[in-house]
Amino acid sequence: FLSHSLQAKMSRPVQARRLEGIDKNIWVDFVKLAATYSKVNLGQGFPDFPAPDFLTEALTRALSGGNHMLHQYTRGFGHPPLVKVLAQFFEKLLGRDLDPMTNVMVTVGAYQALFCCFQALVDEGDEVIIIEPFFDCYEPMVKMAGGTPVFVPLRPNPPKDGKLMSSADWQLDPAELASKFSERTKAIVLNSPNNPLGKVFSRGELGLIAELCVKHDVLCISDEVYEWLVYDGKEHIRIASLQGMWDRTVMIGSAGKTFSVTGWKVGWVVGPDRLLQHLRTVHQNSVYHCATIAQEAVAQGFQRELMLYGKPESYFIQLPKELQQKRDWLIQSLDSVGMKPIIPEGTYFLVADISQFKSDVPDVPNSDEPYDYRFVKWMVKNKGLAAIPLSAFYSEAHKNNYTNFIRFCFAKEEATLKAAKDILEKWKQEKTS
Ligand code: PMP
Repeated sequence: FLSHSLQAKMSRPVQARRLEGIDKNIWVDFVKLAATYSKVNLGQGFPDFPAPDFLTEALTRALSGGNHMLHQYTRGFGHPPLVKVLAQFFEKLLGRDLDPMTNVMVTVGAYQALFCCFQALVDEGDEVIIIEPFFDCYEPMVKMAGGTPVFVPLRPNPPKDGKLMSSADWQLDPAELASKFSERTKAIVLNSPNNPLGKVFSRGELGLIAELCVKHDVLCISDEVYEWLVYDGKEHIRIASLQGMWDRTVMIGSAGKTFSVTGWKVGWVVGPDRLLQHLRTVHQNSVYHCATIAQEAVAQGFQRELMLYGKPESYFIQLPKELQQKRDWLIQSLDSVGMKPIIPEGTYFLVADISQFKSDVPDVPNSDEPYDYRFVKWMVKNKGLAAIPLSAFYSEAHKNNYTNFIRFCFAKEEATLKAAKDILEKWKQEKTS
């Protein structure tokens, strides 16, 4: 018995080398903190309002309807009704014919789509350009694939007339972007509309990225999970539709963001077969399959949207309309207390400047922890309001330049946004009294 227990104690390193340096994750800490202390959670990106009836009804029908096979495995690369309707839908948007079996693959959320892209397309020693601020999983995913992330920041250009900044005021420096491309560059990750800023890249900006991709023969991993969430009449432009880009672009989408069902974890990739064939290899040998019943309901959701395309009843028209109001509401609440919001052109996130609140949460010189991390922790614990520090969306090297901002999610019920406003107003009163 004794020798057995001695043997059971392992002394060799257990962690695979590819996990070195990526084992810390802000979501673990901040989600736990919000769950423990927050009264109002505007942190993690998910709606607290119900999913649309047509979608939950489709799920109920799938669950209890006559087709018991919907409880079994379906086609591994995507449930046929879903890949078919996605192909039809994106054909319309891209203006090109798509084969549902080879140009579309269904994944477990956009997260797994991203994972498949990096594993399938990035090799040891390859460089991958990531535009900062970025959805934080890109960096560890590139590293796990053996690649090297190369960062290029969107640079803020505050308006001179004292108006509120917009996400459009955050721009790439064309020369700086061009300088990041080399013969080692394999891919660039584009996320438009961008989480966390809400920036919707303009045709000019996308044209510049496309030109560099073509010139250097680079792939584009285009994360478009917020494709329907654009405001003020802005247009979401798909980089795959620009000249020379279809062949080198993988487009990623998410039913979670599209239909307000983040818990369903249904995502997809659309792209040329010559790229998707390699993503299929990763998918086949890792996840293999996504929940059939959720795919069936999402397929029906897309059927509906295909029928109502461009009509006022379309969810893809109604959701952004509602969210724009919520955005404006939160902008107003933040602005009135002096937590300066950066007006997002898209997504359901909003970044705000906390400089005027610095005296409440004193700086700790030489602390390892960025100021915005401490600010958010203090705010959750003392005010009951949860957000996410902006520097979490930056590489280690650039984090310290962006510690005066925090990110809020406004995909919330009116009552939640009102409760946030109340907290902010009370805080402001305490500051001035
Ligand atoms: N990409 C971006 C930019 C996101 O913000 C998210 C979710 N927050 C994802 C991908 C992952 O989406 P899903 O929930 O469909 O996996």
